[in-house]
Amino acid sequence: MNIAIDGPAGAGKSTIAKKIAKKLGYIYVDTGAMYRAMALYFIRIGVSADDSVSISNKCNDADITIEYRNGEQVVLLNGEDVTGMLRTEEVGNMASATSVNGDVRKKLVELQQKLAATSDVVMDGRDIGTVVLPNAEVKVYLTASSAVRAKRRYDELVAKGETPDINKIEADIIERDERDMNREISPLRQADDATLIDSSYMSIDEVVDAVTGLLP
Ligand code: C5P
Repeated sequence: MNIAIDGPAGAGKSTIAKKIAKKLGYIYVDTGAMYRAMALYFIRIGVSADDSVSISNKCNDADITIEYRNGEQVVLLNGEDVTGMLRTEEVGNMASATSVNGDVRKKLVELQQKLAATSDVVMDGRDIGTVVLPNAEVKVYLTASSAVRAKRRYDELVAKGETPDINKIEADIIERDERDMNREISPLRQADDATLIDSSYMSIDEVVDAVTGLLP
């Protein structure tokens, strides 16, 4: 049994997916973290986001693996646990810019499909219902207004001790959505058989109930 959750940045996908995984005893697969780990690698080696030739070549030097420790997803980049370094705006923007690359996507989609083939998963991302798991039993497209999504990201960063600018966050979110929705390969879109949920004015538990209510 697989549950696919797609949607734009900050719609609450990971919060919802984690809760559902816990409730049902499924494995939560955060595919954004894989694109972020790849982006971190490019930042570290100094590859620029618009150098598609180097991105295609160098993505094969980044060995990304996923482990589960105490039920939490841990992302290893060439053997190093980078989980705690992935959720910055810099890495997110680099992930959005480099995830347009077909070689990067091919490599990470294979890893995602392998994980789903061996376990019941709740997987979130941008192309899960459309490309990665087209036969998932449940597909959800989770969205919210850009203002609500920016406020959620802002609160997350403030809780981590950062002092972000909410207008910049909203502008980044809009730019990232644009790029994710308009890229050539696997753009973000609602799968034809996905259920649309707008979480702008819903509590976390209401969204969890709405998704689990779709299970056959
Ligand atoms: O979800 P998250 O913000 O962690 O994703 C970071 C970026 O990775 C997204 O903006 C998107 O460009 C890319 N991504 C993707 N396909 C996925 C998951 C994430 O292209 N399945």
